[in-house]
Amino acid sequence: MLGKRKHIIVPAFLAILPIVVARYAGTALLEFDAVLDHALSVGGLRLAAGLVLLLPVFPALVFNQTRIALMALLLSIANCFSSMAALGNFNPAWRGALPGILAFQIVALAYLRERGLFNRFGITRFLLVLLPPGMLYLFGKHFYALADGLFHKLPWLISDPSMLASPPISIALVAGAIFLLMRLRGTEYPVLAPAFSIIVLLVMLGIDGFNPGFLKLDMRIYPQLCFMAAGFIMLWCVFLLSWGRAFQDELTGLPGRRALEEKLAKLGGTYSLAMADVDHFKKFNDTYGHDTGDDVLRFVASNLMKTAGGKAYRYGGEEFTIVFPGLTASEAAEALDSVRETIASASLTVRKPGGRSRRGEQVSVSASFGVAEHNARYSSAREVLKAADKMLYKAKQSGRNRVCH
Ligand code: GH3
Ligand code: MG
Ligand code: MG
Repeated sequence: MLGKRKHIIVPAFLAILPIVVARYAGTALLEFDAVLDHALSVGGLRLAAGLVLLLPVFPALVFNQTRIALMALLLSIANCFSSMAALGNFNPAWRGALPGILAFQIVALAYLRERGLFNRFGITRFLLVLLPPGMLYLFGKHFYALADGLFHKLPWLISDPSMLASPPISIALVAGAIFLLMRLRGTEYPVLAPAFSIIVLLVMLGIDGFNPGFLKLDMRIYPQLCFMAAGFIMLWCVFLLSWGRAFQDELTGLPGRRALEEKLAKLGGTYSLAMADVDHFKKFNDTYGHDTGDDVLRFVASNLMKTAGGKAYRYGGEEFTIVFPGLTASEAAEALDSVRETIASASLTVRKPGGRSRRGEQVSVSASFGVAEHNARYSSAREVLKAADKMLYKAKQSGRNRVCH
């Protein structure tokens, strides 16, 4: 319903909730707690935040989303550190160094490839999560002493050892982490980049405390609420990534066959369907290799994505389906003809066989299209699709690189 916007809207909404609750419901929550004889208590809230952070772990492991599971573990540790700090049972160095270390770890987790956890790759992943906070726990004192030493040597630079957690430094860390997250690539990037960016922000706020006077946040509960929101965002990521794996094609990023079937079942009234097929693709693969073939599919898909009035799906192999709600066959054919022309007139650079580097040679590809519309003759989506396929065959027969309807 929200399209790709939900990838940012939902985490952003969850991130705003702690501010709203800490602004308007803090006192009420704590008064309610008093009625309950302090069953909730701020400590209880901390425990609740800890539990919410663990919620995504099980589904993430079941759906092979190592990064989310590790992120949940990492934030649970951070939540423990932050709670210890809040209880006064803390080494000031933790609070100072933790946000920076966490930002680094979150970015590193986002960049990891999904390779499972309970294998040889899992060890380095666990180390990435456990080692830095462990070192901080064990050697935090020395770190603090170092910062303190610097403070005495360079008082004009570091006015206080705890300024390592000062707003300008936190802002710089958040900005740096978000910059790196935005440079992520891959089909899961649209989900991970905004979600992890907002989590970085929440964790910084939760640890550093963020209390501009005018917001009047109840700081007794705000940090825990930030961690809770991070837990819910991770849970949301698990759902979204699993949904993406079922409905999205990994190679091209287009919605896949399952998504198409759902769309077809919902169609009614005026609409058109198109089938697209890359011309002489078998020969292309044989000549330039499968990797270049995959590049071609990505290239064709990225152009089909921009079809005016239509939504493209990967039907399978080198075939795509484009759905045009509200358009007649001739209107759809007109939109497709401009995409066809863009594809045919572009030149692509060929890859070296087996390698990722590019060779200089320039090649071009074309695609053929068949379009049919929903009418009295073709009254179900399946029939329209079949008719579009027949038109595609006609386009192939009459010389390829054309649209038939
Ligand atoms: P035509 O112009 O008649 O469509 O000829 P064609 O060679 O494109 O048609 P054909 O259906 O015989 O070939 C389809 C080829 O597409 C076969 C297969 O090698 C290739 N192919 C299918 N899926 C993929 C894929 O995911 N990646 C790559 N690189 N090739 C694929
Ligand atoms: Mg084919
Ligand atoms: Mg083909």
